[in-house]
Amino acid sequence: MDQDEPYLDATLPIAARVGDLLKRMTLPEKVGQMMQLDSREDLDDHVLRKHVGSILHTSPERVLRAHDLTSRTKLRIPLLIAEDCIHGHSFHEGATIFPTQLAMAATWDPQLVEQVARVTAVEAAATGVHWTFSPVLCIARDLRWGRIDETFGEDPVLIGELAAAMVRGYQGDGLADETAILATAKHFAGYSETQGGRDASEADLSRRKLRSWFLPPFERVAREGCATFMLGYQTTDGVPITVNSWLLDEVLRGEWGYQGTLITDWDNVGRMVWEQKVQPDHAHAAAAAVKAGNDMIMTTPQFFEGALQAVEDGLLAEEDLDRAVTRILTLKFELGLFENPRRPDTERQRTMINHADHAALNLDVARRSLVLLKNDGVLPVRKGKIALVGPLADDAQTQLGDWAGSSGQADWLPDGQPRDMITTVLDGLREFSEVTYAQGADILTLEPDPEGDTFPDGQPRPKIVAPCPPNAELIAEAVAAAQDADHVVAVVGDRIELVGEGRSTATLDLIGGQIALLDALAETGKPLIVVLLASKPLVLPESARNAAAVLWVANPGMQGGRAIAELIHGLIEPSGRLPISFAAHAGQQPTYYNQIRGQHGTRYADLTQEPAFAFGEGLSFTTVEYSDLHVDKAVLGPDETVEASITLRNTGSRPSRETVQVYVSDAVTSVSWADKELKAFQQVDVAPGESVTVRLEVPVSACSIVDALGNRVVEPGEFVLLVGPSSKDSALRRAEFTVKAPC
Ligand code: BGC
Repeated sequence: MDQDEPYLDATLPIAARVGDLLKRMTLPEKVGQMMQLDSREDLDDHVLRKHVGSILHTSPERVLRAHDLTSRTKLRIPLLIAEDCIHGHSFHEGATIFPTQLAMAATWDPQLVEQVARVTAVEAAATGVHWTFSPVLCIARDLRWGRIDETFGEDPVLIGELAAAMVRGYQGDGLADETAILATAKHFAGYSETQGGRDASEADLSRRKLRSWFLPPFERVAREGCATFMLGYQTTDGVPITVNSWLLDEVLRGEWGYQGTLITDWDNVGRMVWEQKVQPDHAHAAAAAVKAGNDMIMTTPQFFEGALQAVEDGLLAEEDLDRAVTRILTLKFELGLFENPRRPDTERQRTMINHADHAALNLDVARRSLVLLKNDGVLPVRKGKIALVGPLADDAQTQLGDWAGSSGQADWLPDGQPRDMITTVLDGLREFSEVTYAQGADILTLEPDPEGDTFPDGQPRPKIVAPCPPNAELIAEAVAAAQDADHVVAVVGDRIELVGEGRSTATLDLIGGQIALLDALAETGKPLIVVLLASKPLVLPESARNAAAVLWVANPGMQGGRAIAELIHGLIEPSGRLPISFAAHAGQQPTYYNQIRGQHGTRYADLTQEPAFAFGEGLSFTTVEYSDLHVDKAVLGPDETVEASITLRNTGSRPSRETVQVYVSDAVTSVSWADKELKAFQQVDVAPGESVTVRLEVPVSACSIVDALGNRVVEPGEFVLLVGPSSKDSALRRAEFTVKAPC
């Protein structure tokens, strides 16, 4: 058989197998190979009539059905099964669900993040998934955007390092390993530069701005060998990313030499017709998308007829499809799917999904992701009775965040992940202390959108959020519990209805009855510990700002409640650091730390521009002094490395894991630039009373800016190395160095 069908001969080189297979494929089969469709729709039609190359959102039962259907096709080309496993195997019942990507970023620990991705790959691969749409490399800008929780925060260096770690974790020892899954760098590029935080608005970005901050993390993962890139929804300068030849051809394929596979985002090709209205019909849209270099077209069923029509009308030649089809088939051969289509493996699922080691890692990540923002000494709580209040103290599914269980993207887990796998804050605290619990407030109810239940393409429209008014009875109950306790722990934040695609928020305030609840609790005079269980930084009301302690936990995953309880009781040390700034008011947006220098001061008439908490901030239970920053060599050539040292002294009585942050400030630049930018970071444990000297390195080549022509250059002259525990000027030690012009 293999002699007659060389593409099935595993001893032949992949290029020969692809060449043979391509020759056997009809035009409709080639068009289908470029398509990824939603398997919740007519799977039989997708596979048997449209010959799709890939499916997504596939329940375990449908994965099996898909394999059976493939075996009935003429060429038996295996399907690529894709899923958004973005903080764990999100939609597989009983899988390990980790803290969200933003929470993971608060660990500032690439090694830990790599382990998360590895575990996710092991669990996902056992269920027959070959491809995850993760990591997200969008850079957080306006905090009102609904997808802030999916990012690694606001700094390109931190994003690049963490995303590269995730890619390594997913792809493991190479695609041939059956526990490897394909990683996806998304959303290329600029999607997060929203206007007013509105999801998928036009991204008003210059090429210089893209090159300065948005593109570097993508370049980093392209170098790391990330197998696929997903193209964002938005237009920039009027051009949808899907057909942006500057980004795709010149930068990605050209300058970076990227050879991987490109996938559109959801119906990007169709949207050019019905939403962006830059193509007259699906034939033209299909032709434009193919010519721009897209390989896989996500969920545009009309691409099938559209591309066939485009060939018939002469808008496309059949050979135009070959490049994309070759790339997709190559990926399938590299994964070894023709020999082993990697069907779900029940034995591996039984032994590997939610393995005890995975749960232990999950707990570790949750612990490391908690960011203590304020503590007047109330923490750790050693004894006494706790009044636990707040609508999120015992809300298991909300704790998991978006892209998990019942968050809305998959319909086969209506009740979310198993309740008994999730430790809420209530569950966690009960293990350590006497707790009374009162909900205290409602957050929201949902109403239908008057514009209809679906968008014009048939996708469901999110319902409209109606904030609940404060409920006097619930508040009274919470106040009574507080009065009867020694400490109050209030768990407040946001819910899934305020998070995600199409769910950006106009406000950053706590909504519903939560502020009234906090105000009432503050009035009891009992020590108030605010646990902000919020997908993204929210603006704290005065009663929370004045609380005894504030802990931001993002969406901390299945083990979150246990980790939070441990921190409250001092069984662990807080070590998370903010990967993103907290605003003091929504009107300050954006608040990221490395903005271009402006003029006319640093305040509004009615408020400063200072964030409530800055990038990099986070407390320990101890105090650590940074001193003696010393640059070994103060004058350097362009190919050298700035080498420096700093001494950390733990002046308290508890250990600390410090994240030493290294920023660089370029004194004079040919074009305006940020005051400082993160260039390196390092974690170091400092025991009580101990001093540790940390060695630091920053290559001079990293002390660059993007000039007016869009070139990344190091401009000789004076620089300042800034080292400390956060991006706040007051927290940073300074040492100057000079970069000489090349001889
Ligand atoms: C999102 C992507 C996601 C895709 C598939 C899109 O709406 O923007 O991030 O990977 O759906 O679920």
